[in-house]
Amino acid sequence: MKQDFLQIDVAKEYPEFSLTANLTVAEGEFFSLVGPSGCGKTTLLRLISGLAVPDRGRIILDGQDLTGVAVSERRIGFVFQDYALFPHLTVKGNIEYGLKVRRWSTAQRERRLRELLALFELETLANRRIQELSGGERQRVALARALAPEPFLLLLDEPFAALDYGLRRRLRRELKALQTQLGFTAIFVTHQQEEALSLSHRLAVMEGGRILQVGSAPEVYSKPAHPFVAKFLGDANLIPCTVEVTGAGLLVTPEAGAAFTLPVDGGEVAEPGSYLLMIRPEDVVLAEKEVVYTGELMTVEYLGHGFYAEIKTGADLILKILVEKTTALKAGQTRGVSFRKQALKLIPIN
Ligand code: ATP
Repeated sequence: MKQDFLQIDVAKEYPEFSLTANLTVAEGEFFSLVGPSGCGKTTLLRLISGLAVPDRGRIILDGQDLTGVAVSERRIGFVFQDYALFPHLTVKGNIEYGLKVRRWSTAQRERRLRELLALFELETLANRRIQELSGGERQRVALARALAPEPFLLLLDEPFAALDYGLRRRLRRELKALQTQLGFTAIFVTHQQEEALSLSHRLAVMEGGRILQVGSAPEVYSKPAHPFVAKFLGDANLIPCTVEVTGAGLLVTPEAGAAFTLPVDGGEVAEPGSYLLMIRPEDVVLAEKEVVYTGELMTVEYLGHGFYAEIKTGADLILKILVEKTTALKAGQTRGVSFRKQALKLIPIN
């Protein structure tokens, strides 16, 4: 497997937006670009595909510098949110289209078509027109069409955004299984954190035209390098604190809360200073000993599998907490909380 299969080092300036991206994607990797609307995800895909031209830098795909290489010559497949299928063609016609453009022989085309119709379970729909298909079926055709010419790289721009939640989850599982089976390299754009976490080998979190962090889903979720990443991927409590280094570990003094010691493990920060202490709601625990904060339960929501609540701890700090359903919570109660220390993360304040 080539680790530097796709190397991106580009910048693009629009009148009111600028993007810089430096990124490497490995062969066979399912890589997601995730971030809020307008952060530059689509712009980056357009630069990779050749639909937009970088102002600086270059993109290298499997050893080939793509500068000046036409879109049609890049061996890159696309799947868009709105499918972009040809309405006047049948399912078969759509899947075959790219093969005709690339002048595959009739025999080669027929073989590839049979393979893809079987793979995507589209055999019975082969002669249907696009208007005669459901949303999920259209998305399958779009995927089959993109993969037909055996692209080096598949770009997927919010491919499930127009579909309802259940179908979206099903297609997501299918896409993941297909990618594992066929091993193609994919870059998947989404603003849905759940989708990015569940699908990707690695992902990049973007904000305002910059890549803030790249890593596997568990890495980025549990060790966000930036406050924005902590908030964007899941729910997070971010508490200003100071850190001192002592013989026993890191002495963490949260804003207006009881200090506690955090044992230092391998890569953990050991520089004294100001940090944001990140703790996920599921890692805040109700406690009677070693209480860090005490406060009044404000919002309490029953979620079926447990409760979500907010605790007002004074000093304007409202802590989000997720507890199992075995502990009944009621608004108005006063409760003490501590933290699962192994789940804490200190994020430097830049
Ligand atoms: P969304 O999730 O809403 O699709 P995105 O992260 O994909 O957002 P982009 O479509 O890459 O965001 O847009 C990033 C910014 O670049 C936006 O502010 C957009 O207005 C601007 N932009 C994109 N294309 C152009 C263009 N051709 N000319 C000028 N500005 C552009």
